[in-house]
Amino acid sequence: MAISRAECLALDVDDPIKHFRDEFVLPDGTIYLVGNSLGAPPRTTMAAVTRTVEEEWAGRLVGGWNVSGWYDLPLTTGDRLAPLIGVGPGQVVVGESTSIAIVKAVSAALGLRPDRRVIISDLASFPTDRYMVEGLAKALGGYEIRDLRDGEDLGEALSGALSDEVACVLLSQVDYRTGARHDTAAVTARVQASGALMIWDLCHSAGAMQVDMSEADFAVGCTYKYLNGGPGAPAFIYVHPRHQAEAEHMLTGWHGHAAPFAFEPGFRPADGIRRFTVSTPHVLSYAPLNAALDIWERVDLAAVRAKSMALTSLFIDLVEDFCAPYGLTLISPRDPERRGSQVGFSHPEGYPIMRALIDRGVHGDFRAPDVLRFGFAPLYIRFADVYDAAATLAEVLEKEHWRDERYQQRLAVT
Ligand SMILES: *Cc1c(COP(=O)(O)O)cnc(C)c1O
Repeated sequence: MAISRAECLALDVDDPIKHFRDEFVLPDGTIYLVGNSLGAPPRTTMAAVTRTVEEEWAGRLVGGWNVSGWYDLPLTTGDRLAPLIGVGPGQVVVGESTSIAIVKAVSAALGLRPDRRVIISDLASFPTDRYMVEGLAKALGGYEIRDLRDGEDLGEALSGALSDEVACVLLSQVDYRTGARHDTAAVTARVQASGALMIWDLCHSAGAMQVDMSEADFAVGCTYKYLNGGPGAPAFIYVHPRHQAEAEHMLTGWHGHAAPFAFEPGFRPADGIRRFTVSTPHVLSYAPLNAALDIWERVDLAAVRAKSMALTSLFIDLVEDFCAPYGLTLISPRDPERRGSQVGFSHPEGYPIMRALIDRGVHGDFRAPDVLRFGFAPLYIRFADVYDAAATLAEVLEKEHWRDERYQQRLAVT
């Protein structure tokens, strides 16, 4: 046996970041391995939302835009988030969704490289990234998307026939399905050496590990996964200071205007990062995110990463030990350095297995065509949870609970 449950409990006692778990609300009897899809709420969330509604909205009405700082929320929240991705103030704004942030980043990058007509994307990455690039290329006309195929080396794509035509490269640091993780410094340097601009999607890395975007050209990401900002929480976009005077994106809404309340007939971009805002911020959605950032301000990301690697390695060892006869195949990198904070196993009956597991209190998710996905949010997942999750998975497989008729029907959100 890889490790006993008692040894896992001992690891929890020695865990230097164990106290953060008490700052989150988690239902009893649930092992929540989906924090990579929707993070758990901080205990202070409810009070933060109530305060925004009662004091700011009900108390000040339209005065909230000035007095409560609503107008600047995209910038002030961006400054609070910036250290989590290794950058400084005035470099990040928060608003809209990641899909919209991708349009902003890619359209700005294309504008900075007007002589280049190729966008490199990764077919394995989360589909919305590729869909948004596709729509953008279609609307602008004259652009070609070059997709990396499964495991294709970026170096090869950049040194190929089109090398001096690549305007930008858009990649996810951590693959949403396999959890495979890029070395962002090496890839960024490689892309920039070819004259192209590097755009990182950090949806599965922000809040799961130390991130350093200080050399990247652009980065985007969501705040509702590891960052615990709440369902539909606004996304972030980072723009390197060297581009801020020149970069112009295509979503030229009034909040990105140099003088929004002058109501001029034509668009003039604001100075600095403010030009990457678009329109009226979703004020109520910033309250839970800022409550979560109150926690993140006190978190040591190196400790988060160390625990994340230990949790994911433990899960792989236990599942391979307990479930050896049942046909699960690890699809995540075995080397923890090359992995994000999640683990995927493929199985032809992946969907009903996950449904049966959820019914027994272990929440992971399923990604088509056959992947059982488990995310480990280090602030609130314990080593004993990992043990119990692997043991429950083994029981579902051994007793074939997944064969139950009710687990075969697909729900709308998997
Ligand atoms: C979660 C995720 C998204 C989500 O995009 P939304 O616009 O927030 O729906 C986008 N890209 C990646 C890589 C993701 O993991």
